[in-house]
Amino acid sequence: MSHKLKLKKVLVANRGEIALRIVRACAEMSIRSVAIYTEPDRFGLFVKRADESYSLGEDPLSGYLDPLRIVNLALETGCDAIHPGYGFLSENAAFARLCEQKGILFIGPESSVIHKMGDKTQARNSMRAAGVPVTPGSDGNLGSLEAALEQAEVIGYPVMVKATSGGGGRGIRRCDSAAELRAQFPRVISEATKAFGSAEVFMEKCIVNPRHIEVQVLADGQGNVIHLYERDCSIQRRNQKLIEIAPSPQLSEQQRAYMGELAVRAAKAVGYRSAGTVEFLLSGEDVYFMEMNTRIQVEHTITEQITGVDIVREQLQIAAGNPLSYRQQDINFRGYAIQLRINAEDPRNEFLPSFGRITHYYAPGGPGVRVDTAIYTGYEIPPYFDSMCLKLVVWSLTWDETIQRALRALDDMRLHGIKTTAAYYQQILRHPEFQAAKFDTGFVAAHPELLEYSDKRHPSEVALALAAAIAAHAGW
Ligand code: ADP
Ligand code: ADP
Ligand code: MG
Repeated sequence: MSHKLKLKKVLVANRGEIALRIVRACAEMSIRSVAIYTEPDRFGLFVKRADESYSLGEDPLSGYLDPLRIVNLALETGCDAIHPGYGFLSENAAFARLCEQKGILFIGPESSVIHKMGDKTQARNSMRAAGVPVTPGSDGNLGSLEAALEQAEVIGYPVMVKATSGGGGRGIRRCDSAAELRAQFPRVISEATKAFGSAEVFMEKCIVNPRHIEVQVLADGQGNVIHLYERDCSIQRRNQKLIEIAPSPQLSEQQRAYMGELAVRAAKAVGYRSAGTVEFLLSGEDVYFMEMNTRIQVEHTITEQITGVDIVREQLQIAAGNPLSYRQQDINFRGYAIQLRINAEDPRNEFLPSFGRITHYYAPGGPGVRVDTAIYTGYEIPPYFDSMCLKLVVWSLTWDETIQRALRALDDMRLHGIKTTAAYYQQILRHPEFQAAKFDTGFVAAHPELLEYSDKRHPSEVALALAAAIAAHAGW
C-alpha cells in the first residue's frame, strides 16, 4: 500500500441518508465526522451516528443553507474539510469559494467550475467549445417572451423552457405551441425565481421521449480523469428520477464507449476535480449533453454496486490531495444494479407527500440488497424536507435476476405509518416493457394504469404473516 494523505475531520453539511452515507465513509477511513442539524432533525440517525453534532437552530432549513455559519463551525471544531452532499449548498459556488478563502477543503470541484457548470447556458457553451454535442437550443438566456417565441420558431416545437440555475427536476416546462409558450414562459420565470433565486431561463428543443443516460466521472485535479460507466435514469415522473439502473440495459457497446469518452472529455474541458455526473439525453443514435452535476448524486449507489468503487471514499481521498486510486483500465462492471427511490408519497393521490411517524420498519436484506436510509421504527419524517426516505438498491448478475431480486426485496420490506412509492414500484418492475428493457422518459406518463393497484398482499404472504403471528403468540 502506498502512503496516502488523509483528512482528519470532516464536517457533513447535509442531512438524512446522504449525511449518514458520508459519516459511514469517514468511519471506515478513521476520519472524525461532525454533523450539523436543525431542530426538526434532532432525532436523525446521522446526528446520532456522527462523532460530534451541532444544532444550527429551530428553523428547519436556514441552518443547512447558511455558508458562513457552517464554515465557521467547521473551523471552530477543527475540521479540515466540508462534504456538502447533494441539494442544499452542494452546487453553491459562493459556499465553495468561502471554503477556499477560509482555508477549508470543499469536497467537490473548484468554485469557479461549480459556477460555470451550475449555469446551464454557460455549461452548454463550454461543452460546445469542447466538441461535446449539446441539445439544440438557445445560445444564451432568453430576455423576453418575444425572444422566446422567435427562438421557438427557429428550433421548432415542441420546446422546453428551462431554469438556467435549475435542479431537482423543477423549473422545466414543455411547450407544444406558441400559445403554450406564452402561458408557460412567465410560470417558469416565477418558479425559477422562487426555487433558485434567479429569473434566468433558456430554451432547448424538446427531445420527445428520450432516454436519460448519465455517466459518473472521477477526477483528481492532478490530470487524471476516468469514468465509471453509465446509469439509466429514464424512469422519471415530472422530470424527477424514481428508478435508476446501472449499467443501462438498453445501450450498445459502441454507445457506452462513446458516452464514457464524451463525459471524460467534458470533465477535462472544465478542469474538473472530485466526483461528478455528466447527464445526456439519448434519442435513437443521437446523444446530447444536457447538464453536469458537480456533486455526489443520489444514485451513486448503483455505480458502486456494479464497479465496486466506493465513490464517497474516492471523494475524500481526492480532497486530501491523493491521485485517483484507479486508472480507466482498472474499472470493470459486473451484473446490474437497480435503485428504487422510496419516497414518503401517496402515488394514488397525485404523489402527495405523506409525512409522519414510522410505526414499524423492517429492512429488506439477503443477497445483493443494500439499503441507504436514515429512518428507523419510531422515527418521525419531518415535513420540511425532500420526501425521499429510503433508497433500496439491489444487485445481481443478470437483468432478469435483478428485477426478481428487487421484487423480492420489496416484499421483504415492512414500512408502516406512512404511504410510500414501494407498491407502485412493484407495478413498474412487473411491467413487460420494463422487463424487456424498453422504456424511455415517457414510460411513467404512458402507464397511468400502473397506479391502480390494491394494498392487499399476495395470498401466500398473508398466510406467512398469519403463521408468523401465530408463532409469536405461541411464544416460539
Ligand atoms: P440527482 O441528480 O442526484 O439524481 P436530484 O435531481 O434528485 O439528484 O436532486 C437531489 C436533491 O437535490 C433533491 O432534494 C433536489 O431537490 C435537490 N436539488 C438538486 N438540484 C438543485 C438546485 N439547483 N437547487 C436546489 N436544490 C436542488
Ligand atoms: P435538472 O437540473 O432538474 O436535473 P435536467 O436538465 O437534468 O434538469 O433535466 C431533467 C429531466 O427533464 C431530464 O432527465 C429529462 O427527462 C427532462 N428533459 C430536460 N431537458 C429536456 C429536453 N430538452 N428534451 C426532453 N426532455 C428533457
Ligand atoms: Mg439533471
